[in-house]
Amino acid sequence: MSQEFQTEPANLRREIYLDWNATAPPHPSVIEAMTRAAAEAWANPSSVHGAGRRARAIVETARELLGNVLGISARDVVFTSGATEANNMALCGATALVTSRIEHPSVVRVAEQLAAEGRPVEWLKVPASGRIGPDDVREALQRVPRGAVVALMAANHETGVVQPVGAVADVVHQAGARLHVDATQALGKLPKDAWRGADTLAVAAHKIRGPKGIGALGFREGAVPKPLLVGGAQERGLRAGTVDPVAAAGFAAALRRVPAGPKRYLGLSILRDRIERELARYADVNGKDPVRLPHVTNLSFRNWKGDELVAALDLVGVRASSGSACSAGTTEPSAVIAAMLGLERAASSVRFSLGDATTSEDVDSALQAIARVLAMRSVPPPAR
Ligand code: PLP
Repeated sequence: MSQEFQTEPANLRREIYLDWNATAPPHPSVIEAMTRAAAEAWANPSSVHGAGRRARAIVETARELLGNVLGISARDVVFTSGATEANNMALCGATALVTSRIEHPSVVRVAEQLAAEGRPVEWLKVPASGRIGPDDVREALQRVPRGAVVALMAANHETGVVQPVGAVADVVHQAGARLHVDATQALGKLPKDAWRGADTLAVAAHKIRGPKGIGALGFREGAVPKPLLVGGAQERGLRAGTVDPVAAAGFAAALRRVPAGPKRYLGLSILRDRIERELARYADVNGKDPVRLPHVTNLSFRNWKGDELVAALDLVGVRASSGSACSAGTTEPSAVIAAMLGLERAASSVRFSLGDATTSEDVDSALQAIARVLAMRSVPPPAR
């Protein structure tokens, strides 16, 4: 990496960014790769001339790297605008669907749309733990026609709860169904086993310190997705539109860091556990018991609404999140926590998600700032 691109973004040092699951700051190597590509690989990657071939080489390198980290052939990778489009692409053509309310809205809204069109949709039971049971999937599959799709995320964006994807894949395949796995929050944080058995896979570059606006759908032979965008023959005719070589260059740089990611992230559990320990007097952890991503904690505070607390923390430089951003720039209580533990617990929940540039000093400063904010209100004793 050249000297110019060796440091983390300057504002990361001025504020305490604990919202990495929303998006991760682009890694310096990503900014460097994109800056170079913007100057050198601006041509249309579908053009047959030399300039086009230069741009295409970048796109194909990113495809190879992605195939490698996902454990599928590069040929079976379709670039999309992100994980939302990849989830839509995998699910819109489903003749029947089994899923749950803890999936990302780009899965839940598709399920609602399919149901409104009269296609069979089964909603899985969500236990308080937030971990879906393979037996519940087996039962649900008995209520839908053969050939259904099951959508199960690898790890949850709000709680970090890791789903039993491999065990569910066995159940799904025994029933002659297909498994779609949204691996957006698992890529770079967990080893490949986290999406073992998936027939289709959705990922986004910006969650692994790549650029926004690029992601991918990976698929196994026999699970060729239905195009959502038609037009040119790009991406084997599965996704029309010019692929952006600059975004692909950034995605490739981020993907090079993925193999070392799970080990790097594992160390963050020490910081995550410290946050939970120090805030135990004020809050309960949502989804604490099952296997979790090491860098996420979701806490329901006893005397605060989640969105109020997020706004108060923002004023002292701590960036966190509650629920999902809605169109008016406010937030709706987390649908994930509501499905697990009810609306009251959801309304008071805040997510802190750390990343590979989060330091122990960041967490110390954040905890001091959080304590100052929480001291503004008295705390009822733990009742739950
Ligand atoms: N799936 C999960 C689990 C996510 O966390 C996100 C982003 O928040 C998405 C899908 C959507 O990704 P994108 O914003 O790239 O469309």
